[in-house]
Amino acid sequence: MKEAWRRIEDAKSLTLLTHVNPDADTLGSALGMYHVLKHMGKKVHIFNATRLPYNLDFLPGITKVRDTLQEAECYISFDAGSFDRLGIKNECSPLINIDHHATNTRYGTYNIIDPEAAATAQVVYDFCKANGARIPKESALCLYTALVDDCGFFKYESVDARVFEFAKELCEAGAEPEYVAQMLTMREPLAKLRLIQKVLATLELKINAKVAIVYLTQKMLAETGGTKEMADDALNMARSLATVEVAVLMREEEDGRIKVSLRSKSTVDVGSIAVRFGGGGHKRAAGFTSDLHDFATVVQQVLEVLKGELVAQ
Ligand code: 5GP
Ligand code: MN
Repeated sequence: MKEAWRRIEDAKSLTLLTHVNPDADTLGSALGMYHVLKHMGKKVHIFNATRLPYNLDFLPGITKVRDTLQEAECYISFDAGSFDRLGIKNECSPLINIDHHATNTRYGTYNIIDPEAAATAQVVYDFCKANGARIPKESALCLYTALVDDCGFFKYESVDARVFEFAKELCEAGAEPEYVAQMLTMREPLAKLRLIQKVLATLELKINAKVAIVYLTQKMLAETGGTKEMADDALNMARSLATVEVAVLMREEEDGRIKVSLRSKSTVDVGSIAVRFGGGGHKRAAGFTSDLHDFATVVQQVLEVLKGELVAQ
């Protein structure tokens, strides 16, 4: 941490890298760091290769995010378990990799990874605090948003006393929990509900109803005007069924490839399953993209692996 911080102090310009299909943790962590660095007088760019989610438009600094990569004296990546998650071809050096995925491939010049942390935001906060940086109010808001989104509003296994301590410190630094909750969850477009209806209508139960599978096609997106991240709640609903241990979302990408999202309830480590398919993630939430263009074949492959995991239960 000390050496990485020295690289930040020495750099006049920095580029902050966030992962493709960004979530609140990658953007909130990067923006949390952005305000800290601006207060240090740095020139800071923020990069994301894809489209930003509609419900994070309230994060201070979000309009600074660009889809062109700016050269800088130092790069920092946030919440990206592997380099390919950043959606860039160029070498970035020196690169500080800040993350909380146990499956992180340690692709940075410096790797600041805490798999015990509930969110990358927590790693960012610890890193800044350990080096005596001041956390401005805007940072507290961004980091709090990242935290609550990544721990399901304090519902997940990752939540412990340390998480509440972190949340408390962010509130003291100016984060407002009700405002964040309203912004994140109370501004849904009608298209999202229409899309969820279509996705849930595809629900299939497998392996004694321990596995739920739902599908999202490009056609559903076109018909509803929804966007792909809007189906996340349908996946969570599928997992919420009493009998279900693992829920799977099979998503058709624009290029026809298949993105698979895996969620488990309490026993199956979907992170290690995703790694076997070339992806990654956490024990209870993980994903990968298959080069195959055929739902049935990918479903069969995933069910084969899940059978092995669930048969003993
Ligand atoms: P989601 O299913 O919502 O895309 O992602 C769930 C979790 O798995 C996130 O923590 C995300 O970073 C991780 N994840 C999803 N897809 C991939 C992938 O293709 N590669 C890696 N390394 N991680 C992934
Ligand atoms: Mn995260």
